[in-house]
Amino acid sequence: MKAVVIEPGSVLGVLGGGQLGAMFTMAAHCLGYHVAVWDPDPEAPAHRFATHSFPVPFTDQDILERFANLVSAVTYEWENIPAKLCRELEQRKPVRPSSAVLSVIQDRLEQKGFLASNGFPVPPFASLTAPDQLATTVRQVGYPALLKTATAGYDGKGQWRIHRESDVREVERALSGSARPGMRWIVESFVPFERELSILVVRGSDGQSCTYPLAENEHEEGILRTTKVPAPESSVVAERAAALARQVVDRLEGVGVFCLELFQLSSGELLINEIAPRPHNSGHYTLDACSVSQFEQQVRTTTGMPLGEVRLLSPAVMVNLIGGDAATLMKGAGCRTLLDIPGAVLHLYGKRAIRPRRKMGHVTFLGETLSVALDHAKQFRDGLANGPALSA
Ligand code: AMP
Repeated sequence: MKAVVIEPGSVLGVLGGGQLGAMFTMAAHCLGYHVAVWDPDPEAPAHRFATHSFPVPFTDQDILERFANLVSAVTYEWENIPAKLCRELEQRKPVRPSSAVLSVIQDRLEQKGFLASNGFPVPPFASLTAPDQLATTVRQVGYPALLKTATAGYDGKGQWRIHRESDVREVERALSGSARPGMRWIVESFVPFERELSILVVRGSDGQSCTYPLAENEHEEGILRTTKVPAPESSVVAERAAALARQVVDRLEGVGVFCLELFQLSSGELLINEIAPRPHNSGHYTLDACSVSQFEQQVRTTTGMPLGEVRLLSPAVMVNLIGGDAATLMKGAGCRTLLDIPGAVLHLYGKRAIRPRRKMGHVTFLGETLSVALDHAKQFRDGLANGPALSA
């Protein structure tokens, strides 16, 4: 059956209105679409750009009716939106990626089970359904291990590191204090990776797919801090990562933009940490450094338009602005000093409340070479760390 193509002028629905939803909305406007944003938080950044805003809980059945009538297709900006809502919307309009794909991905145990049972490389893992089984479960994967909630965790939230047997008691107590009936966790072997990588893959409803260059990521306290593209010294690894990404999304029969987060071991072997069924923070560089951004690809796959040809126009380093970084930047001449650094492109998300660990914006440094972009990113980060240098 030929897939339906949704023409410009139509209204697209996006569930979730954070910065990813906002960047999707802007990309949709560029291609001539209108966007209806549904996010319970009236201050969510995407509402500012929406043609139609729904700042109401995802459980509101009247809004579901109105939203479904209004939009021609639906996408989402993060995996923790209710799968039930997606299933209900899918009865009425195309949802991309589908609710079936979302259900596999939004539960870490389902996701890892899917990957492992299809022969894709993942760290050893086991499931936990009651805190008092922790010691037995960790023994299955070995020490050190990482415990994660099966659902709803992100940016390192809902994670505990278990270095040795003597840590088990304390983590067990923490779990017992926060556990709700039916809660599940995944225990993973702690991977001694050499570096963290990610790769974006885009797949259309006709099964065509394309990948972006391999990116190298650094995290701080479980949150992405910087992304370098293209990942240095990586042509063989990049080919393997691209093949893996295509195979995983083909197997999922996913339609949309996906990101595979990967661990590279010292042997060169790649393990999949997780799949995101949406544009990813490590893909923000595509806005400034590529022929077509990950958000435009999300619009194209949601509407059934052809995929955009991916070309990296410049090496790039993306630096996230987290928590107080944004305040430091806005102080004195901070912003002017930043914008004076060659190749710096600033994106502030317009979030009013600055909170620790909250992603407030990002800066992409473009350079003729990766080394130039890295120097400029370092100059910026040093300034951020020393405060006064940026606000001089
Ligand atoms: P996640 O929320 O699963 O993406 O985890 C956030 C970060 O925690 C990752 O980017 C890694 O830096 C780290 N991490 C997650 N899982 C593992 C693991 N099994 N072994 C080592 N580090 C991990």
